[in-house]
Amino acid sequence: MAKNSKKKEGLGCIQIAILVLGGFFSLIFLFFGVLFIWSAGAAGVDSGARLSTGIILIFIGFIFIAITIGISIFIYKRLHPKEEKIEITQKIDLTGDIQLQTMKCQKCGAQLDKNSVTLKEGAIFVSCPYCGSDYEVEEAPKW
Ligand SMILES: [Zn+2]
Repeated sequence: MAKNSKKKEGLGCIQIAILVLGGFFSLIFLFFGVLFIWSAGAAGVDSGARLSTGIILIFIGFIFIAITIGISIFIYKRLHPKEEKIEITQKIDLTGDIQLQTMKCQKCGAQLDKNSVTLKEGAIFVSCPYCGSDYEVEEAPKW
């Protein structure tokens, strides 16, 4: 776990570095692009060439922005994977055989809710909040 979190921290640093560098480069390209177009109207210069150079520079600037956003989203998704717990809850919800409403603790008979039932490697584990007992439920139980 410690290694994993360190790796995540590293990715976070890379993300910030990419955002700063990408933003910096795209701003430079956009700035010079605008400058070229601005100066296209000046006397004694090749207006057409300046104009096209300026448009190309601005275009490159936008590509830089797009790449920066794309990489940031990719890293963000790597940093924030969907929680496994949500998946487990969904699995229990989808299983038609298990009716949590009628599920009761085998030790004390208290009614169990979603939070006290977990699914691990296909087996159902119950941790009863009333009597505090943890046990594994046999496959295909008859409630
Ligand atoms: Zn119990």
